[in-house]
Amino acid sequence: MKVVAVDGPGGAGKSSVSRALAARLGWSHLDTGAFYRAATLAVLRAGIDPDDASAVAALVAGLKFRQERASMFLDGEDVSEEIRTREVTAAVSIVSAHREVRRTLVRHQRQWVAAHPGPVVVEGRDIGSVVFPDADLKIWLMASSAERARRRAAETGEPVSAVAADLARRDEADSNRDASPQKPAADAIWVDTTNLAIDSVVERILAMIEPSGEVLPHPG
Ligand code: C5P
Repeated sequence: MKVVAVDGPGGAGKSSVSRALAARLGWSHLDTGAFYRAATLAVLRAGIDPDDASAVAALVAGLKFRQERASMFLDGEDVSEEIRTREVTAAVSIVSAHREVRRTLVRHQRQWVAAHPGPVVVEGRDIGSVVFPDADLKIWLMASSAERARRRAAETGEPVSAVAADLARRDEADSNRDASPQKPAADAIWVDTTNLAIDSVVERILAMIEPSGEVLPHPG
């Protein structure tokens, strides 16, 4: 198994960078955030209070998740667009903080990688620290808060101030939860993307990986 973990806060460039990296290498790509978003969508649809840990965990345990290329399926339904709505984004940090939910979804994510025999780029918040602590390469992407908000606002068309408030709230919730908080693995390589184009970030990461897929020793 060869795994490159790409972690970091929202708006740091994880999705664009990890998708482009996987495409350049011809590797598979797994977006773990889509699992938490799909679980949150199911919770909202069922009318369950996202704070109700046991009801949420029971529901999530019975859901079927499938990710194929850039599409996410929940119980066989393509929910790729619906998991990006404002309602889901507002509740996902509450759902993802429940320990039982994380246990279930981490199991699904590991199964996904085990079922894909080739090397894989996995993006998320806890990939290098919890899901794949033995990943061959761990990248922690970050960017200034202002730049992260500017990028997200450009994607969603929402005002920068509203996006900045949402990112700050999710950073706070994701970083301070008890169950595997968002934090860089001790051996992660930090890449500040504030002033870098996606392509430059991808080139930097590619330079750490040989064409064969072997991870080169990092200069430090
Ligand atoms: O990356 P994305 O914005 O889709 O992630 C949505 C949310 O899912 C994050 O704010 C976080 O609460 C949760 N998440 C997580 N662990 C991951 C990936 C996402 O807790 N590995």
